[in-house]
Amino acid sequence: MNIKPEEITSIIRSEIEKYQKKIETTDSGTIVQIGDGVARVYGLDDCMEGELLEFPRGILGMALNLEQDNVGCVLLGPEEGIKEGDIVKRTGKIVEVPVGEALIGRVVNSLGQPVDGKGPIKNSGMRDIEVQAPGVIERKSVNEPLQTGIKAIDSMIPIGKGQRELIIGDRQTGKTAIAIDTILNQKGKDVVCIYVAIGQKQSTVAHIANTLSEMGAMDYTIVVSSTAADTAPLQFIAPYAGCSMGEYFMNQGKDVLIIYDDLSKHAVAYRTMSLLLKRPPGREAYPGDVFYIHSRLLERSAKLSDENGGGSLTALPIIETLAGDVTAYIPTNVISITDGQIFLEAELFHGGLKPAVNAGISVSRVGGNAQIKAMKQVAGTLRLELAQYRELAAFAQFGSDLDKEAKNRLEKGKRLMEILKQDQYEPMQVEKQVMILYAGVNNHLMDISVYNIRRFEKEFLEYMDTHHRDIGKEIIDGGKLTDELKSKLDEAIAEFKKLFAA
Ligand code: ATP
Ligand code: MG
Repeated sequence: MNIKPEEITSIIRSEIEKYQKKIETTDSGTIVQIGDGVARVYGLDDCMEGELLEFPRGILGMALNLEQDNVGCVLLGPEEGIKEGDIVKRTGKIVEVPVGEALIGRVVNSLGQPVDGKGPIKNSGMRDIEVQAPGVIERKSVNEPLQTGIKAIDSMIPIGKGQRELIIGDRQTGKTAIAIDTILNQKGKDVVCIYVAIGQKQSTVAHIANTLSEMGAMDYTIVVSSTAADTAPLQFIAPYAGCSMGEYFMNQGKDVLIIYDDLSKHAVAYRTMSLLLKRPPGREAYPGDVFYIHSRLLERSAKLSDENGGGSLTALPIIETLAGDVTAYIPTNVISITDGQIFLEAELFHGGLKPAVNAGISVSRVGGNAQIKAMKQVAGTLRLELAQYRELAAFAQFGSDLDKEAKNRLEKGKRLMEILKQDQYEPMQVEKQVMILYAGVNNHLMDISVYNIRRFEKEFLEYMDTHHRDIGKEIIDGGKLTDELKSKLDEAIAEFKKLFAA
């Protein structure tokens, strides 16, 4: 066969032409359908799952459904003005957020853009919002306490750095309050805190940011805000964005605390998004992988090994239940992913026990190893006493005659319950918690009326602060309550009781 050189050049030329065309079709596509914040785009052949896309007017989108002839994308901004036939460009990047120290003290949206009106943020780089969680080898077991400053939690449901502890309860039972108090308690403890608001009212988020700022907690806190007014995709990516910001600090060997408030709304945002993308609905209309979205998020909490810098990311996800039903789909999912849960009960809350922690069914599966020794000593007895009290109290309701010992138990239990009450925004240092709990479990408060317990506690701790600083210091430093330290405490309590005007 005879091929002329012209023919070859023409073939090459046409190949080149085709090649250029191909680039054009893979790097950008055309919108074939748009509505409800979801677009179907034709022509994004090599698009990646989760890839960031650029829509007209600088609006960003995320590719989620990679189908045979089109890509289903969600818009991360307002849809107005974008129509069928518009061009969509690939960016070649997974959705990412800015990370770095400069974010501390700021309120940002799910894309890490400032929303507090304090000007642009000088970030130290970008990080993908979806990152593989550290593997087993890169971690070590949880061994340091993360003090919440809340007596009921630090004593009976201790949280360790790197742990995932679920806060679960009905609406208005003080879930957010526990999370915020825990942030407030990290003051001066060198822990970076991140509060991720998902699908909450804008006014609620503003109130929280204000509170944190007034209490000086914004000096070490980032607020990631996706409000109910934001689109479902923005609400959906918020926790991943917050987590990436936290991982940046963890990888530098720092301790990080992250709050996801709340994952129920996160699941709802994901459901909305999935239904719009026409993914098949499953139980309660949630898509089949709703478990996976939460597990891959919470799995990123970790305590890194010393070789990896020893940093940690502690997560406190929040779940809202309906009428205390913890057996619903999303609650059971998240319960099974976390290392323990703090159950808050509306009944207790309205009965005046705030924080409304149900100590009977709340657990922390790993934090016990992390508790300071003195706390472990007093808490062991406390759990037992309270369990007995609850049993007796239920029994006593029927008006049955109780013997002296049972009556005593009941009285002691009432006093312990009183000690576990704690006001909002008043986290307590662990040594103080130990001192008052010690007084309670060792029968030093039996001659104080239940009504006076809280005042006694307050004045006693002030007294200890002014007259017996050494005891508090010894509790933290030495850890254990030795016989010597116990007798010092006994003496101090007796001393104070003489001064206390009941
Ligand atoms: P929502 O379901 O609306 O998110 P929530 O469960 O997060 O509610 P919070 O907003 O934390 O509950 O608290 C509900 C109310 O109870 C608030 O007004 C809060 O100030 C109050 N509260 C919470 N904890 C305490 C406490 N320990 N002492 C006194 N008041 C409290
Ligand atoms: Mg709340």
